[in-house]
Amino acid sequence: MTPVDVLIVGAGFAGIGMGIQLARRGRESFVIIEQADDVGGTWRDNRYPGVSCDIPSHLYSFSFRPNPGWSRVFAEGREIHAYLRECVREEGLEDHLRLNCALSQAQWSDNDARWLVRTTRGDFSAASLVIATGRLSEPKLPPIKNLDGFGGRWWHSARWNAKVSLVGKRVGLVGTGASSIQILPRLATEASEVVVFQRSAPYILPRGDRRYSREEMERFAADPRTVTALRDELFAEAERNIGARQRRHPDIDLLRQRATDHLTTSVSDEGLRRLLTPDYEIGCKRILFSDDYYAALQSGHVRLEPTPLTRIADGSGDGRGSRMAVAANGNSYELDVLVLATGFNSTRPSIAGHIRGRRSRLLADEWSNGMAAHASTTVHGFPNMYVLDGPNAALGHNSAIYMIETQVGYVLGALDHLAASRADALDVTAEAVHSYMRDIDDMARDTVWVQGGCTSWYRDERTGRVTLLWPDSAVSFRERLATFVPASYEHLHRHSGGDGALGFET
Ligand code: NAP
Repeated sequence: MTPVDVLIVGAGFAGIGMGIQLARRGRESFVIIEQADDVGGTWRDNRYPGVSCDIPSHLYSFSFRPNPGWSRVFAEGREIHAYLRECVREEGLEDHLRLNCALSQAQWSDNDARWLVRTTRGDFSAASLVIATGRLSEPKLPPIKNLDGFGGRWWHSARWNAKVSLVGKRVGLVGTGASSIQILPRLATEASEVVVFQRSAPYILPRGDRRYSREEMERFAADPRTVTALRDELFAEAERNIGARQRRHPDIDLLRQRATDHLTTSVSDEGLRRLLTPDYEIGCKRILFSDDYYAALQSGHVRLEPTPLTRIADGSGDGRGSRMAVAANGNSYELDVLVLATGFNSTRPSIAGHIRGRRSRLLADEWSNGMAAHASTTVHGFPNMYVLDGPNAALGHNSAIYMIETQVGYVLGALDHLAASRADALDVTAEAVHSYMRDIDDMARDTVWVQGGCTSWYRDERTGRVTLLWPDSAVSFRERLATFVPASYEHLHRHSGGDGALGFET
């Protein structure tokens, strides 16, 4: 059993950001366990053609590690992945990393006031546990009947099969979210036919991507203040969009008009335009950014199927399966490859089934009505545990990295308080969690996410509550988490009467 002060689960943006701050202050021992063989989280996993970020890179990067070398406004996935690997190397995190190391079970021990963490590479005993497994790590497969009976090849967008050439193939692209609209333009240059299965039409705004010129990059490198100034400008510009999400006028009307204008100028055919017009309010689902999706859709060999893919037809019994993909309206298409750009299991993370808090309560049971936390970070009954990028910590209008940095600051505040207090552990009170969730419900009530007439992964699919998104501005999140308030926490002391034995409840 290896003892550490802090055990971080996951080496994506959140885990790396937490690790950097712990390493820089040098007070706590820590490890970062990562189930894959590399760091980078979603930027390691998503390797589909065209993968890039739709938040400008100078904003979608750590404020404490600016990168004057971003090659374009919206960097491609592999450049972001390289940035994260560089962060790990240059901040000395490699010695703290345990790759190919998956969490099997984490159990809180009241006797020891520590987390006992069983992994595929040995056991750890940690004073604090930071869950940084992200919300875009578990591919979601829609209920397509007889998918296993598909006679061609199929894969999820986050598990791209680069070994299969798509040149000359008939490809079905399922979904029209952020991933799909990046995939289509590249896919369309290779495949002989593409069918896009659309369950709901997205709102799309122009993206305005471009390479940075050599002069610009030299200026960024020579004067760090220019990078900070650009970052501040991008942040302020994104932040202004919260007004539309709160259904303020004229903000929401102007935003809707921009998307409608983009559609009108990009698609001349009235029938196609109708199919591409969303039937819900703008911002209810994530707004997408693209300058080439509509053009790709209008290529002669690309077809928009305006209903979801529901099933694969039965095979002929020769064991080779069927290549006929059938849409909800009965249209069927003969296809060689199916790409499921159908999103992620975000609101019910599976790791919650592997974490047991006080009295061995499973986190999944604590969250049976949907994710809930105080300060979007701490869960009652799970002392010294911090969830980054989990409940009510996502944004629909600004950079996720800003939110992660805010939470990392909150965790450092908690660690400082714990070290200064005589307590061994901090357990957020049930009342603090309830009160925070009431505030979330109040903030969300009149927003487009609740009133916009759509379903989205920002809300829990069973309860409809906004459990994933922080339903207000990024600045208000930082203000809310700026101070660690000890009164929201029960201060726990090691059980004196316990036998001190470390053990797992199975
Ligand atoms: P997503 O936004 O959840 O989109 C999944 C899509 O699949 C939706 O359009 C959904 O339709 C559709 N779908 C599900 N089942 C279907 C079926 N049977 N037939 C047809 N369509 C079906 O997933 P994603 O595109 O992978 O994006 C997930 C998140 O990742 C994004 O919201 C974003 O936060 C992040 N992302 C970011 C970037 C970036 O540039 N920053 C790029 C990619 C992804 P409904 O809309 O009707 O549910």
